[in-house]
Amino acid sequence: MMMGEDVVEKYCKAGRILAEVRAEVVKMVKPGVSLLKVAEFAETRIKEKGGMPAFPCNISRNDIAAHATPSANDTSIFEDDMVKLDIGVHIDGYIADTAITVDLSGNPELVKASEVALENAIGIIRAGTSTVEIGAIIEKTINEFGYKPVANLTGHGLDRYVQHATPSIPNRHVEQGVRLKAGDVIAIEPFATNGAGHVSERGGAEIYKVDRLKPVRLPAARKLLKELDEYKGLPFAKRWLCQNKLDFMLNQLEAVGILHSYPALKEDAGGLISQAEHTLIVEEDGCQVISR
Ligand code: MN
Ligand code: MN
Repeated sequence: MMMGEDVVEKYCKAGRILAEVRAEVVKMVKPGVSLLKVAEFAETRIKEKGGMPAFPCNISRNDIAAHATPSANDTSIFEDDMVKLDIGVHIDGYIADTAITVDLSGNPELVKASEVALENAIGIIRAGTSTVEIGAIIEKTINEFGYKPVANLTGHGLDRYVQHATPSIPNRHVEQGVRLKAGDVIAIEPFATNGAGHVSERGGAEIYKVDRLKPVRLPAARKLLKELDEYKGLPFAKRWLCQNKLDFMLNQLEAVGILHSYPALKEDAGGLISQAEHTLIVEEDGCQVISR
């Protein structure tokens, strides 16, 4: 394995914190509870345990697959929803990424479809496994439950301070892929749906990242960029920032290509979506799941 032991230890620490926080957060998801309270709790607990959020706590419900997070003054509460919690922790830039579906909607089989797909995929991971094989086993498993994978959402590699690195890990059969190597860190994240199996961006974004730094003239924008330094290119939430003229400045910085926004991803046919995700380190004879 190419990775130093100190790096492996940082990934494992991020994964341990993540698993503990996930367990605490899952217990909070009940009808009537505020989404904002849950997201803030998750992010606070990560810091209390010695980690940093790798991205805002995503709370995406029903036909929203991902990239939803509460706004600063959000008043929404959980109802009879299919709730996806997607949480990330980093230690010194080394990221563990996990997602779990908490079902308040009465569709346990849909939740199981993505969970079993994830476990089946983990079961075939070792140095030499092709991403083509991973996509195929995920799609086959989800189909066996009578559902479809979301074709245009994928898992991904992880790199220091890079949440979405190569390789892309497909959730369906694809023609071409790459072979995993020992030391690769990847997140596998099947999404299952009773809808069309495709998502599209919808509405305004609550999550952004700094994409490409360029000089800016507006002093207020310069000040905001300085504030964003601490995220080192990782995604951040609007609600984490001072709200004064924030939308105006985020729009400006996005328009000139400095910021990238992540609008919520909605199922094209309005289908319900479940998701399961773990982060793992590929080994010669298997893999080490760091987010259990
Ligand atoms: Mn995730
Ligand atoms: Mn991920």
